[in-house]
Amino acid sequence: MWARLVRSNTNKQSSGRTGHALYALQHMQRTWISETPTMTGKNVIVKGWVRTVRVMGDKLAFIDLRDASGVLQVVCYKPDLSGEIAALVGEIKTEYVLEIEGEIKTRGAKQVRADQPTGTIELAAKRVVILNRCEPLPFEIDKDTSGINEELRLKHRYLDLRSDRLYRNLTVRNTFIQNCRQFLLGNRFTEIETPYLTKATPEGSRDFIVPSRLQPGKFFALPQSPQQYKQLLMVAGVERYFQTARCFRDEDPRADRGFEHTQIDIEMSFVEREDVMHMVELMITHTVESMGYTIKQKPFPRVTYQESMAKYGADKFDLRTEEDKQKGVLAYAWVVDFPFFEKTEEGGWTFTHNPFSQPKPEFLEDHLAGRNIEHILTTQYDLVCNGYESGGGSIRAHDPAVLGATYKTMGYTQEEVKESVGHMLEAFKYGAPPHGGIGLGIERNIMNLTGESYLREVQAFPMTGSGHTAVMDAPSVLSEKSLKEANILVRKPEEN
Ligand code: ASP
Repeated sequence: MWARLVRSNTNKQSSGRTGHALYALQHMQRTWISETPTMTGKNVIVKGWVRTVRVMGDKLAFIDLRDASGVLQVVCYKPDLSGEIAALVGEIKTEYVLEIEGEIKTRGAKQVRADQPTGTIELAAKRVVILNRCEPLPFEIDKDTSGINEELRLKHRYLDLRSDRLYRNLTVRNTFIQNCRQFLLGNRFTEIETPYLTKATPEGSRDFIVPSRLQPGKFFALPQSPQQYKQLLMVAGVERYFQTARCFRDEDPRADRGFEHTQIDIEMSFVEREDVMHMVELMITHTVESMGYTIKQKPFPRVTYQESMAKYGADKFDLRTEEDKQKGVLAYAWVVDFPFFEKTEEGGWTFTHNPFSQPKPEFLEDHLAGRNIEHILTTQYDLVCNGYESGGGSIRAHDPAVLGATYKTMGYTQEEVKESVGHMLEAFKYGAPPHGGIGLGIERNIMNLTGESYLREVQAFPMTGSGHTAVMDAPSVLSEKSLKEANILVRKPEEN
């Protein structure tokens, strides 16, 4: 846990916790550990968890106490304590929850650890209260937990999150989101939430569905992204929208993909492709540079899809050298000029990225006429970083004729178009402004910032690889009563 503090005091992470005077709630009479180095000679009450306890002979015990702000060395010297309290100290074990009152003292010269935030001081305990006990832990949390069985870690995720690495991942994520939010709010964006219970979306993945109790036989879908709502907000005249949006996709979980992920979701009116890319570039630069990271190349290089496929055999790539990798450098690049459509297995056409996109201007005529389909390029731009796709967006079709043509090319009948995106075509009739946007996957960005290879390491409560939730073990069987209420009759997989 020392390592946590050492790291948070160097670069790579805005601590947000050290260096600030933290608001102390008066009635709690509690001092944050990060504040103790400036409190020599003062009487303080600290509260937290026992990181380690070392008993030295029968007079002296050292406790490393951890709270959310840091770790503090506490010295329990038996002659300074009442008999009752001294007896209590003998009982203390790892991860017990304690309240300790005492005086902050300067450490003897030999005990000073200048590289640690609280390394010059210690707390001489006068009063110790056990607020709660802790059973022996199912796995060790004072080391990196990545080698421990995944199911066990996720079953006790609240313990895993106490470990240095995962706690740091949570704080890096928090800082990344707050920096983006601060940038966007400073640039006239409005943060707006959109519904989770919504309609099945044609966005390329399988939907999670929710039965309607009040309308038997009907289902909501959880959004794969707020794509349509954010576009409707543009029709509403919001002009600059964002939210940190949860996206739900019923896909097989992979290292960098889960059922749920969060996006910094952005949409802007009266913009062209370059405007959105430029704004995102400024936001990412502001965000990661203020966290102490180095960006390999600015402005971010732009690579066409064709060049990327020819050079890297894929539409994402890693521009870092070995040395960049060692130094934690971030190599961003834009990929542009993707084909709008690709062939389906049945020989028809489907969209490659986003059906709501606008084709590039020089292909508009062909798009409207349903001609030269394989040559039509879309205004899609993907942000690539260190080998991952860390975001993607496009300029949208705001003219109903263009969106209608996209669906026609994909073989939808007029009825099917109406059923699928009729509400968008209707909205676009009422003065829809030209607009475009992007969704930045928070997990993929945090994986790059922290060097993690698995999405679950940067989410607080992720799923297991087999699709069960952490701690609560969902999905689970519903009672007959609940099934009836939701108007559901369960079929066995073999009946399908
Ligand atoms: N809706 C897109 C996605 O979730 C992002 C965007 O085009 O804004 O990937």
